[in-house]
Order: sequence, then structure tokens, then C-alpha cells
Amino acid sequence: MQDAELDIIFLKPELHNKLWGGRRLETDYGYDLPDGPVGECWAISAHPHGDCKVVGGVWDGWRLSELWNEHRELFGDEEGDEFPLLVKILDAQDDLSIQVHPDDAYAHEHENGSLGKRECWYILDAKEGDRIVVGQRAKSREEFAQLVEEGRWDDLLNRVPIQTGDFFQVEPGTVHAILGGTLVLETQESSDVTYRVYDFDRRQPDGSLRELHMEQSLDVIDFGMKAPESGAVTEPEIDGVTTLVTTPSYTVDRIVVRPDAPVAYAQPWSFLNASVVEGSGTVCAGKHIHNVTKGTHFIAPAGCGDLALEGDMMLIVSHV
Ligand code: ZN
Repeated sequence: MQDAELDIIFLKPELHNKLWGGRRLETDYGYDLPDGPVGECWAISAHPHGDCKVVGGVWDGWRLSELWNEHRELFGDEEGDEFPLLVKILDAQDDLSIQVHPDDAYAHEHENGSLGKRECWYILDAKEGDRIVVGQRAKSREEFAQLVEEGRWDDLLNRVPIQTGDFFQVEPGTVHAILGGTLVLETQESSDVTYRVYDFDRRQPDGSLRELHMEQSLDVIDFGMKAPESGAVTEPEIDGVTTLVTTPSYTVDRIVVRPDAPVAYAQPWSFLNASVVEGSGTVCAGKHIHNVTKGTHFIAPAGCGDLALEGDMMLIVSHV
């Protein structure tokens, strides 16, 4: 590959209006938003529902899906029909629906060969008293259906108090919801298959209710899973890097760069997704140096070399 092809690749987020969204993606992250409530910034995505464009560099204007299809060497010749991960920032002004995602096997069989969805959340901002739903308490399909029928959501759902900097891994089959007041960075398998269990009986602007998927939900909920009590990060920080989770689909790290403590982050992976979530600084890969700031998202391709990070900033990064 030519030297310019080893440079890091910056992406322009795809923004999505959502009933439950707000305007913080503009006020806090500086993105140009469409009118109305905006809930999701698809920051690193090649999914057909939001395929990010490259900004600057030799690939300027390419879609991430096109790069994946035509220049797989940038991704270490990783296998697979689709770019495997999706990174989002969510602004939940209001509660998201109570939902559950299938695993790869169920999605493959019932959703036209789609991937299932494993996801994880880094809490970018939460206020005193904010909570999140992760897990539920029914031991069986019958018990779950009964509690839903009786509207006993407080008995059924595991609501966890949250603080800025918490982290939650959400396996397929886990009932979950991000609740109002929270900003979250989500790293997930590249899938858009969601089964909605409950939507608080909210009406859309046209007066209709969003569809629920109770049968599919009951099929995929893992009734044996133990619900977490806290999202506090207990892993140690080593030279600025904290590994938040390692799963068969992804590993997610948090990198904290301080003015007196630059970070050298090894990049031996097939590719690395990176999002600056606080502060600003510089990223140097090989001969290339770039200024980055809160709200910048990029991919470090295969062979770009280790990343030298300086400044005063925090990043969330992921690789397969
Ligand atoms: Zn979800």
C-alpha cells in the first residue's frame, strides 16, 4: 500500500431523528443536525441504514461500505460480507423502548441472514438519579408474559442507577433500555434487528403506536441471565488504557490522554475504531499527524502503525 493509504480514515456521522431524542448531539458535539429530535449519531457505520462517508485523505467521499468491499486490505483482509461493528452516540432525552436483540443464530434464521446484536454502553453523561434498564427478573417465558400482561414493569425490569463513566455489556437475549437524560456511546455488532417489548404506550406524531414484538422477544430472552447491580468500571487503568470488555464480537478500551501523560496505543489489529468523547489533542500514525477533538471519529487501518496520542482527551476504541 502507498503511504497515504496507511493514514487514519475520518468519518462523517450519519444522524437519525428519533421520537425519544434531543438536541445534545448539536450542543455537546457540534454536529449539524436535521430539524426535530435527534437520538442517534451513527459515527462509525457501514450499515445500509446509515453508511458513513469518509472526510479528507485519499478516500474522501467514499462510503465505509465501499471501502470495506473494494479495499479489504485496509481492514487486514478481515472476512465477512459486512463491516462487522457499528459505533453510535445516543442522546436519550426521553426513555427508549424496552427491547431485546436476538443472537446471530436466531437473526440468521428469522431475519434474512442478518447478524444478531451484542452491544455495550459507555455512559458519557448521566445526572444524579438517572438509571438504565439491563436485565429482568422473570425465570420463564410464562412468568415474563404474565408480568407484562399485568403491567408490573417495576417487578419485571432491573433498573440500575448510573454515573458518568459507567460501562455495561449487553449480551443478546438481555432485556434493556436506555432511559431519558443519558448520553451513551454504544459499540455493537452491525445489526439493526430490535424486538420491542414495551414502548410506554407512547404515540408517534401521527398518533400511531410503534409495533411491539412480544413473540420474538419471548423466543430470544435469556431467562437464566443474572442482571447486573452496577456499571462501575473495576478494570485497572494501565498507561492510560482501561479494557472495558472483551467478547467474541469486539474488544472495547477506554484511553485517557493527559497533558503530562501522552499515550502510545499499539495498533496490531486488523483495524481500530476510535471516537474522541472528551477534550482534544493530536493523533500521530506513521508520518501523519492530525488534530482531533470531542466528536471526532476515525478508523486506524491495518498497517498504519501504533498511535501516538497527545493532548487532554478521552477516547473509546474498539476492534474485532
Ligand atoms: Zn439495544
